[in-house]
Amino acid sequence: MYDVIIIGAGAAGLTAAIYARRRLLKTLVISLDIGGQALLTEQIENYPGYLGKSGPKLMRIFEKQARDLGAEILIGYVTKVEKVDDHFKIISSIGEFEAKTVIVAAGKVPRKLNVPGEDKLLGKGVSTCVTCDAPFAKNKVVAVVGGGNSALEGAEVVSKFANKVYLIHRREHFRAEEINIEKVKNLPNVEFILNHVITEVKGEKRLESIVIQNVKTGEIKELKVDMVFLEIGHETKIDFVKHLVKIDEYNQIITNKAGETSCPGIFAAGDVTDSPYKQLVIAAAEGAIAALSAYNYIAKKEGKESVKIDWR
Ligand code: NAP
Repeated sequence: MYDVIIIGAGAAGLTAAIYARRRLLKTLVISLDIGGQALLTEQIENYPGYLGKSGPKLMRIFEKQARDLGAEILIGYVTKVEKVDDHFKIISSIGEFEAKTVIVAAGKVPRKLNVPGEDKLLGKGVSTCVTCDAPFAKNKVVAVVGGGNSALEGAEVVSKFANKVYLIHRREHFRAEEINIEKVKNLPNVEFILNHVITEVKGEKRLESIVIQNVKTGEIKELKVDMVFLEIGHETKIDFVKHLVKIDEYNQIITNKAGETSCPGIFAAGDVTDSPYKQLVIAAAEGAIAALSAYNYIAKKEGKESVKIDWR
């Protein structure tokens, strides 16, 4: 029986593991990867105390800290969390485990367009990770879709490789930070196509073209591109726990400030929750909070001293 099983090993999950182990909780982390979304970030510029190095390097430090403190980390995916009496059963691709508490830190996965041809050509010219695949765009004509920071930063990255970049966004206004928008506007090989959506991606063996539609006029055009990068945000995949916790309209787990969900004993942290602003530093902080709350949940049940919440 584990004290805590943490689902996900991004910034939130690994920080939760560090904090759980500092309270000597028997801790298991189950995750599909170690590092989460930060693995896709070339340079981290907004994690305090860590300047200009890569996301994977930072995540290796998180991992080492968690393992050195005694956290077990296993690669696998969780298919279901079940409540059994006063504890939880975690059913996964690597077996079944039992725990007194669960921390869901499963993050988010890239959103797709859901248009014809997309699934068939995923990995064959259609990419959901510009940071990973930009080098394949060398001397090619490509499109980047989206209007957030990921799309604008992605357009800048891929413009260093591609001959031509179309930045396709469904509105006139961007969510991205102004500094990113200005940078991309000044790049000579980037063309903005605003108020347009992609309605189809076409190609036999590889992507050959995309069909775009002007959302104001309804006009349809076909653009020859070799690659298209979908940078349209991320969504949660939480079917394994949805039956136990309350979720919001964006399929995010609702938590209070202590990382508690609607189900006693299940906590959540990071991008999977309904808390605002999805940032590495925020995910890490939420991981710490969730682990301390899990400790307090166990301490209360077992008559141990709790961690003070308010330092008074
Ligand atoms: P995001 O901010 O949610 O932006 C997603 C973009 O994709 C939006 O412009 C949205 O359009 C568009 N979109 C969504 N679904 C679409 C669809 N089906 N078809 C066409 N367009 C669609 O996502 P993100 O850019 O990945 O960023 C996520 C979070 O990470 C944000 O908080 C962001 O600030 C943060 N981030 C930070 C940094 C950094 O600090 N350097 C870098 C990357 C990301 P609408 O605008 O019309 O909704």
